[in-house]
Amino acid sequence: MLYPCEYLETKGFNVTYLPVDRYGLVDPSEVEAAIRKDTIFISVMYANNEIGTIEPIPEIGEIAKEHGIPFHTDAVQVIGKIPLDMKQKDRNVDMLSLSSHKFYGPKGIGALYLRERTEIENYMHGGGQERKKRAGTENVAGIVGLGKAIELATANLEKHNERTKKMRDRLLAGILEIPDCRLNGHPEKRLPDNLNFSFEYIEGESLLLMLDQRGICSSTGSACSSGSLEPSHVLRAIGLPPEIAQGSLRLTLGDENSEEDIDYVLEVLPETVGKLRAMSPFYKPTTACEK
Ligand SMILES: *Cc1c(COP(=O)(O)O)cnc(C)c1O
Repeated sequence: MLYPCEYLETKGFNVTYLPVDRYGLVDPSEVEAAIRKDTIFISVMYANNEIGTIEPIPEIGEIAKEHGIPFHTDAVQVIGKIPLDMKQKDRNVDMLSLSSHKFYGPKGIGALYLRERTEIENYMHGGGQERKKRAGTENVAGIVGLGKAIELATANLEKHNERTKKMRDRLLAGILEIPDCRLNGHPEKRLPDNLNFSFEYIEGESLLLMLDQRGICSSTGSACSSGSLEPSHVLRAIGLPPEIAQGSLRLTLGDENSEEDIDYVLEVLPETVGKLRAMSPFYKPTTACEK
């Protein structure tokens, strides 16, 4: 949402950016305090793609509703992981975006949910498809694929979460045994499949490459900014100093992972962190890991 907001600013819109706490949580009362007479739109992501923190969307939706302001949430990370209920807890969400490939659907298709009577500009002009909102022949194969994928993801949500969480928790406990590391994001209010750590005295990109050589796929910042050497703006926003943010690693689990994968990561990761630290002239083990 940052780039679209920056674009809107070039068109003369005023945008207020809210801070987050050290877990990455937006405070609903800060949302309320930031509302002005001319506020026309509020957007808060449902769950963060880097640190996994789940935002208080129902609470923020309540505030938006009270003030009569359309409320959008980026729910790309939550489909198949957090149950949505557009009639109950999420009833004040007016617009919700999702992307098919994040829940095992085809790439190149997503959707914008619009609650009845939510007015938006047409996104593309020309043909009358999709009630003129998005002109052009529909991507039928993509749409069908998205539909099937969301059906499967929703039907298997609880089973999927239970399995993923079990692996995630074992991975978490094992990684926190490594000295001088911390978990980023909220300890409980987080996606079932996401872990994000900072390892002090380590450069995340080197860790990522060494893990890759051993067959472990991980990420430092967000996937969209891979190749950028700047520390992630998300990690900066939760208050990590640049040198700590630089030493961050994101591990996410999916259907294809197994308990053996967890064993393997718990064998390789501590060893790799140790190797990299042995190369660092600054590393002296001091603090126990912070939970
Ligand atoms: C992946 C992702 C997007 C982008 O979706 P694409 O369809 O891959 O472009 C947007 N928001 C969040 C939170 C994401 O995780």
